[in-house]
Amino acid sequence: TLSDRLKQVAFFLPEGAVFADIGSDHAYLPVFVCLQDNKAKAIAGEVNDGPYNSAKATVHAYQLTDRIDVRLGNGLEVIDSGEVKQLVIAGMGGALIHSILDDGKEKLEHMERIIAQPNVNAKGVRKWLVINNYRIVDEELIEENGHFYEIIVADNGGKDSSSLPKWTERELLFGPVLLTKQSHAFLKKWQYEHHKLTRIIKQMKHATIRNEEKIVQFEQELTWIEGVLHNV
Ligand code: SAM
Repeated sequence: TLSDRLKQVAFFLPEGAVFADIGSDHAYLPVFVCLQDNKAKAIAGEVNDGPYNSAKATVHAYQLTDRIDVRLGNGLEVIDSGEVKQLVIAGMGGALIHSILDDGKEKLEHMERIIAQPNVNAKGVRKWLVINNYRIVDEELIEENGHFYEIIVADNGGKDSSSLPKWTERELLFGPVLLTKQSHAFLKKWQYEHHKLTRIIKQMKHATIRNEEKIVQFEQELTWIEGVLHNV
């Protein structure tokens, strides 16, 4: 069975989705979606031969070769502009997701929805989405096997950017929707991050060469985290 993390990603796809799953690995997500929804179609993109072959094998085993096209290539290189309406990029670091989106920007003009699940550095992904005129419409935080996973759902804001909300640095850090939901997992994650950041700041202050700018930024973040945790 599919992980709760990927089930939650799948939940954010509309019925009859025509989507790309970039970095699909075994193609478990597109297979799960297509088995549940007989109108759904997908492209599974993979840059590495191993996962590409695994994806091919899974799709074949479930007899979904007519609805899931497995393609070998880097990032959004495997899709044409307008070919799919939704894009999933899950299970990678935020920096990699950011670069895949940025490198493939010209493919995204007609993309209605981007669902991103960064394992770390979700802030950088939110920033890219906002700068590129995507509206963050939903978010979820999943705790699974001792890890926290953030899922960001963003819809294309079209050409007119004037109506889009302007999120603050603080909202981009926590996630504007997650911040209002204040789930149990959310508070647990930020308790853990508080602990981690306190230790990092302490180490940075003891370093021979102090990065004052970073220390100031992290202390600001620590204050924000304390604010969130004390608000409970
Ligand atoms: N998306 C799946 C999930 O969330 O469980 C698999 C995540 S797996 C940890 C990351 C996958 O992304 C790997 O199979 C890797 O080969 C692939 N990948 C990494 N960089 C990529 C890129 N630039 N383009 C396409 N796939 C990439």
